[in-house]
Amino acid sequence: MAIRKIITLDDRRHGHILREKAKKVTRYDAFLEKLVADMWETMRDAPGVGLAAPQVAIPLRVLVAEYEGQKAVLVNPEILKKSEEEERGEEGCLSIPGYIGENIRRALKIVVKGRNEKGEPVKVTAEGWYARILQHEIDHLDGILYIDRLDNPKDLKEVSEDEEGEPLVSSAASQTTA
Ligand code: ZN
Repeated sequence: MAIRKIITLDDRRHGHILREKAKKVTRYDAFLEKLVADMWETMRDAPGVGLAAPQVAIPLRVLVAEYEGQKAVLVNPEILKKSEEEERGEEGCLSIPGYIGENIRRALKIVVKGRNEKGEPVKVTAEGWYARILQHEIDHLDGILYIDRLDNPKDLKEVSEDEEGEPLVSSAASQTTA
């Protein structure tokens, strides 16, 4: 496994990948298995609770997420059900360091289907923060970032960074840095 570079929106060479629709995975091979293993390692190192392949400059529909004992690899994820009930919450993004967004609306509950890196079918039912993380990551696969979902531009807040450049944010926000 290896830690890959997480690209940020201001990256001149690769930043555009964050704004493009990622391609469907058609081959379940060693390349994909290595990508997923690296994504886990990169996400945990960051640290974050979710990571989408475009964030490591791979424009494929692959995400990993892990929150409070719940974890999933989703290749070609599709949202099957989305509750009408929404929840507002804070989000950060590893590709937009130094900022958090407040009052971001997400469905409270979702059901997602996809495949894992071996091509086996996966179905995930998620609620609350975990559902938020998955929606955030699925957005990444469509080139959508949380900053696109702000109801009010004032909800984008700059957060102070320590010497190492790690954002110092509330625990709730760091739990959703994805
Ligand atoms: Zn993100």
